[in-house]
Amino acid sequence: MDLDVSVLRLGHRVDRDKRMTSHLGLTARALGANRVILAGDNDKTPLETWRSVTSRFGGDFECRYEPKPMKWLKSFSKSGGKIVHLTMYGKSWKESIREIPIDGKVVIVVGGTKVPGELFGIADYNIAIGNQPHSEVAALAVFLDTYLGPVGEERFEGGEVSVMPSEDGKVLITKDDP
Ligand code: SAM
Repeated sequence: MDLDVSVLRLGHRVDRDKRMTSHLGLTARALGANRVILAGDNDKTPLETWRSVTSRFGGDFECRYEPKPMKWLKSFSKSGGKIVHLTMYGKSWKESIREIPIDGKVVIVVGGTKVPGELFGIADYNIAIGNQPHSEVAALAVFLDTYLGPVGEERFEGGEVSVMPSEDGKVLITKDDP
């Protein structure tokens, strides 16, 4: 079974996490996750951002809002999915990453507001990117890069535009370019 990776953002706060949450979903998309699931405040802004970037830059990245994340996680686990909880209290990702399956369904959980204590118990892996407090976006980026490696451009087909890497400027190719 192919690997299918979701990112679950717990505890989104509409009054203070807009940019952080939007960047978290963009990072999930760019570094190879299949979808991002928003929990906490039901805020349309991040969802609109993720859908707009996916439409413009391509790929089939999905996003949705989940009103009952802990219930969803328990059901996900019961159906055989693996839960990776990114937390500064966890085991080092460098040692643990090899234990995490590279097939089947995996969800990577990051917090915002205080994370429910029960999450540590239902997670299959509690993984730290160092044991110092920093950011969910940084933690997700480092974890995904180590877990999935380089993401090929084929993941982002069908967009309106694509970037041509350049040494000295911005080169954007639109799909109508000859
Ligand atoms: N105040 C929240 C709490 O105590 O649960 C956490 C705030 S922290 C800025 C938000 C999220 O970033 C955490 O829930 C965790 O997912 C992630 N994070 C922060 N530092 C991390 C680290 N060193 N390793 C892994 N994840 C980390």
